[in-house]
Amino acid sequence: MTTGALVLVGVPIGNLADMSPRATQALRDADVVACEDTRDTRKLLNLLDVGRKKLIAVHDHNEADMADTIVSLVADGQRVALVSDAGMPGISDPGEKLVAAVSAAGHDVEVVPGPSAAITALVVSGLPAGRFCFEGFLPRKGSGRTERLRHLATEPRTSILYEAPHRVAATVDDLVAACGADRPVALARELTKLFEEVWRGTLGELAEHLAVNERRGEYVLVLGGAPDRRPAT
Ligand code: SAM
Repeated sequence: MTTGALVLVGVPIGNLADMSPRATQALRDADVVACEDTRDTRKLLNLLDVGRKKLIAVHDHNEADMADTIVSLVADGQRVALVSDAGMPGISDPGEKLVAAVSAAGHDVEVVPGPSAAITALVVSGLPAGRFCFEGFLPRKGSGRTERLRHLATEPRTSILYEAPHRVAATVDDLVAACGADRPVALARELTKLFEEVWRGTLGELAEHLAVNERRGEYVLVLGGAPDRRPAT
């Protein structure tokens, strides 16, 4: 019997050529592929010529329930590859609960790293990358959103946010209100794809830009840190 493992496999964020040979091999070696959308992943496996695999759906709403199933598969000696629709599993996608469950049960967890929109946007933003925070998606409304915006107002490190196209303008407006119009920001759109674009400026300028430009595709906001307001000594 082979040694079972959960294998986190990074996949491209838009450009198939970013799939690493090792990631493709990890999918070939897998007995089962756990994925968010079985139809999308089936297409990816076909494009990569990986061959037919048993697929199981793991998404935000069933990750905790699927943990027992995946622990049993790994305990039976199976290699279970976990992929997201795009990028790295566990980054605003299922992953962390499965890793916690499989490792707590004493089994192996391996990782084959690949692109992530967060790090890709950060490095192309031109904003300080020495120390940074990942915010992911802000809560859509309520006190959770207010609390994160209040935090961003004083966070000195560069912060990375994900946002859906139909909400990006409203989120930038809220960031202007919380952090001020002068805060530096970069908006990375459609990274690694045909219409890749990186816009750089201030939050106030970005709000104006989004008010008149079409908002389509996938977006990452990279927000400069709050200025140091300590009195000079
Ligand atoms: N696990 C993924 C990763 O490692 O980047 C993130 C998944 S999250 C559900 C999807 C969000 O990532 C999108 O709403 C968008 O904010 C960002 N994203 C994914 N691909 C992108 C791309 N090619 N360009 C810009 N943003 C992208």
